[in-house]
Amino acid sequence: MPKIMIIGAGAGGTALLPILNNYKKIKVVGVADTDCEAPGLVLAKQMGIPTSSDFQQLLAEVNANIIINASGNDNVSQKLDQLKKLGELEVIEGESAKILFKLVDEKIQSEKEALHRVREHEALYKIGIMLTSSESEDELLSTIIKWATRLTHTPAGSIALYDAQESSMEIVALHGFKKTLTSEEHWPIRKGGLTEYILNMNAPTVIRDIDKFDLADISRIKMDGISSLIAIPLIADRTTIGILYVDDFVARDFSQRDEAILTLLGTQAAIAIEKMQLFEKTKKLAITDGLTGLYNHRYFVKYLGNEVRRAKRYTHELSVLIIDIDHFKSYNDTNGHLQGNEAIKKVTRVMKDVTRTMDVLSRYGGEEFAIILPEANKHQALQTAIRICKSVEETKVLGEEKQPLKKLTISIGVATYPEDATRASALVESADQALYEAKHKGRNRVVAFKDKNT
Ligand code: GH3
Ligand code: MG
Ligand code: MG
Repeated sequence: MPKIMIIGAGAGGTALLPILNNYKKIKVVGVADTDCEAPGLVLAKQMGIPTSSDFQQLLAEVNANIIINASGNDNVSQKLDQLKKLGELEVIEGESAKILFKLVDEKIQSEKEALHRVREHEALYKIGIMLTSSESEDELLSTIIKWATRLTHTPAGSIALYDAQESSMEIVALHGFKKTLTSEEHWPIRKGGLTEYILNMNAPTVIRDIDKFDLADISRIKMDGISSLIAIPLIADRTTIGILYVDDFVARDFSQRDEAILTLLGTQAAIAIEKMQLFEKTKKLAITDGLTGLYNHRYFVKYLGNEVRRAKRYTHELSVLIIDIDHFKSYNDTNGHLQGNEAIKKVTRVMKDVTRTMDVLSRYGGEEFAIILPEANKHQALQTAIRICKSVEETKVLGEEKQPLKKLTISIGVATYPEDATRASALVESADQALYEAKHKGRNRVVAFKDKNT
């Protein structure tokens, strides 16, 4: 078996060492370098290979028959020439050593690359699991961007979702940008523009230098300081649902691996986003009413329970309005059920316009609604109720002149926690009782529980 000794334990010799040592058909018997702290010497010691600062002494001890001279030292070369003449010693040095180093270097690079690829696939596998276990759409989207930017070593990224009906895009997640984008976060897809170009590609769009890219629409991206990007259309079930972008603020090159890994990630991301959207939609359907889009009765009851507990904990007040359309049977009878539905939607619009975003609106029954007004006392609740009542009275509704009151109107009962009741169900009963009284007194009015004079 050839016994090899390496002279020169700098970068070249050090790179050779593990590769030669792993090769079963040869044996590395020694490493020499005049510098006692040369990296190759340290490595050789760890591998249990004899080392020395004096190559001649080491050669005498280990009896090598091939020498790789990586020292680049003429003196060493001359001494080796003399030794070559004496015995059966082969020396690899000069150009042949360079070729050897080059081969070794290529082997090392390809091993590194293979390892890198394995790591990326491991990461993608883990990301796949992470994506399917995201608990909310926000968490899902930020996980996607975090990994997209990490795997491509880019400082920023975003996800925009595609609205096919409006033919527009909307940014739904951002990473690495200033909190507010300079450009708009919602934009129409223009003919011949960049977005249309990206969406029409079944492959990644790579822009290495935005200044050299000639398409309308590009100014939007430039505004946020982006100089280079990769954009991946997100396609789930053959439908394009959006675009995943990774961005850099300087012009730069991207490798084919960046494109490939992003394409793989994009496929997983698209499926996960679509699944999440379906899940959110189903969840929403289960708690909302189809005609008005308001929360349904079941959700109202659950929400009120939570709000009452919250009010108790923080010693807040809380009010409930129960609303019922007056003489709605008569409205339906004269205008038909479909027109009745339109009237219900009109009342919904008014309630939405008058209330705050924190108020919780629900369709309680056929032509009945309930509203939770968190942190509102009796006075504030009455004011809101009166505004809703007046506003419905003033809103024009088709065919309302045939109503007994010549207008489409509503009646509202108001109850407040804790003065009227301390349990959620009792609070609703109190508001219901007040509503009954409003009806009894002639309709188109607001009555607060216990308040017989309103
Ligand atoms: P009051 O002033 O006492 O509330 O009289 P009202 O006629 O409104 O009361 P009633 O409870 O007798 O009638 C409610 C009507 O609401 C009967 C029903 O046909 C109608 N209604 C319930 N849900 C819907 C709906 O979804 N669409 C339509 N168009 N009508 C509905
Ligand atoms: Mg009713
Ligand atoms: Mg009614």
